[in-house]
Amino acid sequence: MLLDVKNVKKVYKTAGNETTALRHIDFGVKEGEFVAIMGESGSGKSTLLNIIATFDKPSQGTVLLNDIDTSTISKKHVAQFRREQLGFVFQDFNVLDTFSNKDNILLPMVLSNKSVEAMESRLNDIAPTLGIQDLLNKYPYEISGGQKQRVAIARAIITNPPLLLADEPTGALDSKSSEQILELFRHLNQLGRTILMVTHSIQAASYAGRVLFIKDGMVYHEIYRGEEDNHQ
Ligand code: ADP
Ligand code: ADP
Repeated sequence: MLLDVKNVKKVYKTAGNETTALRHIDFGVKEGEFVAIMGESGSGKSTLLNIIATFDKPSQGTVLLNDIDTSTISKKHVAQFRREQLGFVFQDFNVLDTFSNKDNILLPMVLSNKSVEAMESRLNDIAPTLGIQDLLNKYPYEISGGQKQRVAIARAIITNPPLLLADEPTGALDSKSSEQILELFRHLNQLGRTILMVTHSIQAASYAGRVLFIKDGMVYHEIYRGEEDNHQ
């Protein structure tokens, strides 16, 4: 199992108030899977993804990524761990307008002290798949939302992490761009990339090979995608 989420519980405590965001979450993701976690607003999706991404900690339970218990990673090593093990795609892209698209994409490699040659070579490898060749020398403010999300996906996979996480990756996009981004995720998965996406959109979830339905902080149902391809 690439990702193993075991008995995870999360309670937020604020000013005398307690909110149980996750009651009891148990699931795994195998290498090569494309899994969607689907649920309504407030069901705990972002909390779960933030815990898996090491942005937040569970109140109880464990998350194992490549057999590493993420709660044991020290503050000093957590940034490096994320760059090596995880790519994260946000709803709002989180790209920096003051950097060119190319510099945005290469940032995780720069922070990992990779050589210029290694960076150029890796970028050349992934750019055609992502359809971003013509965007590299532009800035984020010069391109569309769908294009920004492609840049963000490039940044998320530039270090070739074993797991790609996406939080409502089509939430800020129109339906045509959403479809293109979902097609891209499906293509990346066909090329072998493991993806875990959270969404409230049934349409988005339908691209995944497996869908977990979450409500009130619990997985209450799970479906596997059929063989028939509805998205050509
Ligand atoms: P979703 O992503 O499915 O919309 P969230 O994980 O954001 O759900 O939220 C799950 C529950 O936890 C909600 O009741 C939400 O109000 C609460 N919650 C989320 N983040 C916090 C926080 N930082 N502090 C307190 N409560 C929170
Ligand atoms: P939203 O999904 O609410 O629009 P974002 O997509 O911007 O928010 O971010 C998703 C979550 O990841 C947020 O809860 C944010 O606090 C968290 N997050 C984003 N970047 C970082 C980071 N570098 N370190 C820690 N937490 C982060």
